[in-house]
Amino acid sequence: MLELGTFLVSFFAILICVAIESRHTPANVDKGYFWHVSDFHYDDTYGKEGQSCGFPVLEPGPFGDAACDAPLRLIEDSIKTMAAIKPDVDFILWTGDNAAHIPTPKFSMERNLYMIQTTTSAIKRMFPHTLVVPSFGNHDFYPADNTNGTEEGFYKVVCQNMWSTWIQDPKQIQTCKSGGFYSRLVGHKLRVLAVNTVLYLIENPKTKNLTNPSQQFEWLEATLMAARNAGEKVIVSAHVPPTIPSPSLFYWFYEQYQGPYVQLMTKFADVIVAHHYAHEHSDTFKILQNEDETGASAVFLAPSVTPLRGHKSSTELLPNHNPGVRLVEYDKRTGKHLGYTQFYTNITGANSHGKTHWKELYSFQDAYDVSDMSVSSLRKIFHKMAQPFSAPMMQYCSFYSVTDTPEEECTLEEQAVFWCAGQLTNLNMTKECVKRYMHL
Ligand SMILES: [Zn+2]
Ligand SMILES: [Zn+2]
Repeated sequence: MLELGTFLVSFFAILICVAIESRHTPANVDKGYFWHVSDFHYDDTYGKEGQSCGFPVLEPGPFGDAACDAPLRLIEDSIKTMAAIKPDVDFILWTGDNAAHIPTPKFSMERNLYMIQTTTSAIKRMFPHTLVVPSFGNHDFYPADNTNGTEEGFYKVVCQNMWSTWIQDPKQIQTCKSGGFYSRLVGHKLRVLAVNTVLYLIENPKTKNLTNPSQQFEWLEATLMAARNAGEKVIVSAHVPPTIPSPSLFYWFYEQYQGPYVQLMTKFADVIVAHHYAHEHSDTFKILQNEDETGASAVFLAPSVTPLRGHKSSTELLPNHNPGVRLVEYDKRTGKHLGYTQFYTNITGANSHGKTHWKELYSFQDAYDVSDMSVSSLRKIFHKMAQPFSAPMMQYCSFYSVTDTPEEECTLEEQAVFWCAGQLTNLNMTKECVKRYMHL
């Protein structure tokens, strides 16, 4: 017998599908879809010891809590919802961070691998025939953040035993095993580069004194060059972004990697249709470009499935955010990104009702009134956000926390940071820009 919950998920999914399909499609476009999901951060002790919980949670809700990482129920529910809304996507981008934020002394490599295996199995179960392109997040390593690309045993287990059915090409499986990166053709002349940007992460002690771990830079350049020569387009998919995070301003990458990465990616901006990252657990988009505004590419950061928030102080969490999954529309002939729909479920409501109610938070094209996800569309949006407290800026602030009911209004400084870090890749220039924006 069909359970009521399953029926309701299917019913809402049909309504959502009809809404997505009926959106205007330009002529001469062969529309395709892919999901972007990230940052499950599975806590297998949720509701018991709550080892990921930053503060004591008196009554942990069945779907999670802002002080903790995700229970399996939320993870499975999010993937099941994706499969109900749009099962026939062309592929899924999955940008890492499967383990919970558990302090190293309480954690182990075995549990870390168990968490990656659990999320891998959940995706395989609910998307048994779909191509998935996973990449590594900093919380996929034990201890967290620690990798220089040579941990052969770890990479072998994940790349070979868990993900080889998706990667398929033996040469790319080998590449994955020797550094955690690989490329995958996902359509006619459309390739995804699953990049291991954890190698460049400023919190990774193993690569602090290196300059080119696992020779990923050579591999990137050679792969992008080959794609260009073959007339392919490329989607860059990775966990840690090369852009400047908001509301704090710094580089996620060590200095010796930041410049070369931006230089390399901007050099191939003609090949790259978009970058998709995560790690910040927030919904945001930015332009990656040279200081002279050449070689620009559009960068999109997907929010997390885990509802965990960072700490504002020792007694206070950052504002709530909700679990989200993202459906991207693109042109299969050109790889051009046409738009996306951001879905979310209100975690407080899900806990009080005992079931989730996933719905559309916004459509990128409709919310920002643009025709696609190109750099020129992003420039138009930032132009509209140039005025503090403007409607598009307030909308961006709300979506940033994956909520339709923001608890706090965005401060002028936060708006300045969003606006400047969204368009600049140089830290000093961004800081100067923030000062100017605030004195408007
Ligand atoms: Zn994360
Ligand atoms: Zn991360």
